[in-house]
Amino acid sequence: MKTVVITGGAGFVGSHLCDWFMARDFKVIAVDNLITGSRRNIAHLSKNKNFKFIEANVSRPYDISGPVHYILHFASPASPVDYVKHPIATLEVGAQGTQNGLELARRKKAVFLLASTSEVYGDPLQHPQKETYWGNVNPNGPRSMYDEAKRYAEAITMAYHRTHKVNVKILRIFNTYGPRMQVKDGRVVPNFIDQILRNQPLTVYGNGKQTRSFCYVEDLVDGITRLLFSKLTGPVNIGNPREFTILQFAQLIRKFYNPKAEIVFKSLPKDDPKQRRPDITLARKELGWEPKIPLEEGIKLTMDWFAGRPLLRGP
Ligand code: UDP
Repeated sequence: MKTVVITGGAGFVGSHLCDWFMARDFKVIAVDNLITGSRRNIAHLSKNKNFKFIEANVSRPYDISGPVHYILHFASPASPVDYVKHPIATLEVGAQGTQNGLELARRKKAVFLLASTSEVYGDPLQHPQKETYWGNVNPNGPRSMYDEAKRYAEAITMAYHRTHKVNVKILRIFNTYGPRMQVKDGRVVPNFIDQILRNQPLTVYGNGKQTRSFCYVEDLVDGITRLLFSKLTGPVNIGNPREFTILQFAQLIRKFYNPKAEIVFKSLPKDDPKQRRPDITLARKELGWEPKIPLEEGIKLTMDWFAGRPLLRGP
């Protein structure tokens, strides 16, 4: 039986990864300091003897006893509201947290997978974004604690690969949504869903012309695990290439869930990227991956989860 360590295992994406590996006969060790994660996300796994939860900050030294075959580094605040609230912890987990994971991988001869992000492209001047694009990032602006932490994380991951021959994988995650997102993490999908459920106006920041593309978490997990078991090092973009302006997205949610919902415009946060869409040619070609769940279906599943209604499928 293989052992996988998932840092950030009690978080949104991390907990879905725990489920994926637990369903496939792995031993799973989730490490999380619960800064933005929650025990609730993994409570259903806690009685299983092949699952272990360690409450710890992976930015501080830690050790795992016994063999480890895979390390997936997902620990980090990831929503703009959360990383602005925890700037130093965000920088630490991208820096020391990543290095601690790489050291563990080196000692255990494990594969190390880094959860990087489309934020490494900053406010991109190339569209859609290919992995070969180096980005347009403000190094000291309001999003810099996250963008630069992840850029550093990519750099140190490659340094361990080149210097110590650690088998590494770098994944760049574009906007992802689904059950277990924190209702109040400030991102657009939980905000709009929460606003619909409470009969509140939908808040569009700026003029709503900025674009994003949204990937359902189950599709993301499929991409992550394909990369993990592939020969590729990456970086590889994983995201849904269907692009919307935020205003179109608000209108779509309104059309499906409450045609009477009001849309109100609020100020645009500084350095908010104007456009974002992944070029997923590499993932398609090398991993045979592409997203399958249409936005309309994914939003319904997420809405049901937020409303506490039974899920019709997954996660
Ligand atoms: N946004 C919005 N209304 C909200 C929350 C976010 O219009 O209530 C916008 C935000 O300005 C950004 C986009 O939606 O342009 C996506 O924001 P999010 O925080 O989800 O993630 P980001 O892609 O910026 O990391």
